[in-house]
Amino acid sequence: MPVLVTGATGYIASELVAQLLDKGYTVVAAARNLEKAAFLSQFPGAQERLRVVRLDLLDGIDSFVSALEGCDAVFHTASPLSGDGEEGILKPALNGTNNVMLACSRTPSVKTVVLTSSVATIEPQPDPPVKDETMWSDPDEQRARDNFYVLSKTLAERAAWDFMAREARQFRLVTVLPTMVFGPSRTPGKDSTGSLGFLRDWFVKGREGCCPWYPDGWPHGHFSMVDVRDVCAQQIACLEQAGATGRYLSLAECGGWTELDKLMNELYPAMPLSAPVPEPVESRFGEPIADPIVTRFDLSRMQSLGVPARSVRQILQESLEFFRARGELP
Ligand code: NAP
Repeated sequence: MPVLVTGATGYIASELVAQLLDKGYTVVAAARNLEKAAFLSQFPGAQERLRVVRLDLLDGIDSFVSALEGCDAVFHTASPLSGDGEEGILKPALNGTNNVMLACSRTPSVKTVVLTSSVATIEPQPDPPVKDETMWSDPDEQRARDNFYVLSKTLAERAAWDFMAREARQFRLVTVLPTMVFGPSRTPGKDSTGSLGFLRDWFVKGREGCCPWYPDGWPHGHFSMVDVRDVCAQQIACLEQAGATGRYLSLAECGGWTELDKLMNELYPAMPLSAPVPEPVESRFGEPIADPIVTRFDLSRMQSLGVPARSVRQILQESLEFFRARGELP
């Protein structure tokens, strides 16, 4: 039976479509712009087993029901990464997730929903020494910071779980919570955007030049990353393992900020080194932190999926190879 992938033109979803086709699935790829989705038809297996349908997150329920017709699973990845707060990010993210859930409950063939959430939904305050999937961010705190992207991810995932608790349904929900996603992109175009473009800029400018808010904005945590191929393989494992349910972190933790700096500079010597950062980080935006700690992640649920995940070194190395092959870095 076919599986639906929403946001199929995206960085993560296009890798998902390619992996699903490689594994013999029939894929319905939903995109709001059919022209933009044309590259998907070049993937091996696409001629025989790919159908592209138009779907906007702001569409009404009928469009979602029609996209889902005959499918037995959905990978819901579409969500705006940027835009004008309430209208541009929150509204489409929530409308999309609510309609996916409702449409699935009206489509008896659907047995599994895999939702691409984010590690940003697990930012309890104060930071605990170990974070796991039982924890949630506080939407009020995210709204107070005007961080509409992370707010949209938290509210959308919560809406999906609330739907499961509230409604009678014939399917299971699995959510995957990636951190920053890097690694080779299948999308066309010469310049990487989104998380991958961020990594390229980091190599070019160094941490202090590219993202001076690290570690100030995130003093208790080390940076983390996951390869796009691994997060997609994990999502497919969530579909294929009938016992998979609930939330799954998806990340590889870096060492400290200074260690990461050194590793990136070793792999790409042109990257400017930044000032060393004490461990644990002792100040936030110049103010001393009363109780400096380093927060780690409990990755046991992710590991239970049995998907071998690339190391931080591999992710950075293979991203660099991709940037060089595409002429984005010398
Ligand atoms: P991306 O390349 O920007 O993909 C986002 C997708 O959502 C695109 O296909 C985009 O369509 C689609 N979309 C946005 N607004 C839409 C709308 N109104 N109607 C229909 N489709 C719409 O980003 P990505 O990195 O692959 O992210 C995919 C998912 O992973 C998102 O849910 C994101 O929150 C999550 N995630 C990403 C990261 C990361 O580091 N990349 C980390 C954690 C979670 P267009 O191509 O037409 O714009």
